[in-house]
Amino acid sequence: MRIDLHSHSAISDGTDTPAELVEVAARSGLDVVALSDHDTFDGLDEAVAAGETLGVRVVRGMELSCVRSGSSVHLLAYGADPESPGLAAELARVREGRQGRLAGVLAKLAALGAPVTEAAVMERVGDSPSVGRPHIADALIEAGHVQDRTEAFDRFLSDGGPAHVERYAIPVERGINLVHSAGGVAVIAHPWGRGRERVLPPEVLEALVQEHALDGVEVDHQDHDRDARRRLRKLVQRLDLLGTGSSDYHGTGKTDHDLGCNTTDPDVFAEIDRRMAARVG
Ligand code: AMP
Ligand code: FE
Ligand code: FE
Ligand code: ZN
Repeated sequence: MRIDLHSHSAISDGTDTPAELVEVAARSGLDVVALSDHDTFDGLDEAVAAGETLGVRVVRGMELSCVRSGSSVHLLAYGADPESPGLAAELARVREGRQGRLAGVLAKLAALGAPVTEAAVMERVGDSPSVGRPHIADALIEAGHVQDRTEAFDRFLSDGGPAHVERYAIPVERGINLVHSAGGVAVIAHPWGRGRERVLPPEVLEALVQEHALDGVEVDHQDHDRDARRRLRKLVQRLDLLGTGSSDYHGTGKTDHDLGCNTTDPDVFAEIDRRMAARVG
């Protein structure tokens, strides 16, 4: 069994349609794939239908924008009910924050000599309800200001970068509670990637487990080096967490994140599956 529990379609900042993503999953020899677009459930019905046709089990995921101590934390939700009122209201607020920050980012970019229009960004956003910095990056590429998304983030868009503008995100403790109230399983994405270990040190993860019943953390992720993975694996054992492995695939939007480049142990997935069923029950 090959299981990949973290991927993005063009419904957020990936480049494949949900159905295309499931086709790639089938070609990559995956048995199970979770679609986990940022702050929206909109691609899931299409992905599940494609999975039924192609013989791939599609898990209903979503990656929730959270925050701790002023830094962003991503929380994967599996099997959460999109209709759950508390979660739906917070998601709407997060998505409004994504849209609302756009004018500020574009003003900063113009002042930095890299102007792009809101129309150009919205063309990249397409049908996505979740406007992301990668869409702004794509508009910067189209305008000839940068070569690729990586350069756009390095020069302008990364957290604290010269064109960065804060947006609303959910305190991670509350995010976990909302996912649980919606019947979902809560797994922190790439907890120690890109300098996040400072934001989520072991004692904080321990508190999230003890006080909020956090279900798991991503261990095998491209943003984690070998040492981070080894130490996270130990922590997972000590805290009796579910440790997952996933690609964080974004289509052509992110290199070195091919579907199935990291996978989740079937026993770990069986427990996630059990908890999803028990909570929706
Ligand atoms: P946002 O959702 O607007 O906060 O933007 C964050 C998203 O940008 C992440 O989900 C990643 O997919 C993407 N991202 C972050 N850093 C980079 C980077 N250096 N290169 C390409 N994509 C990135
Ligand atoms: Fe993303
Ligand atoms: Fe993420
Ligand atoms: Zn992701």
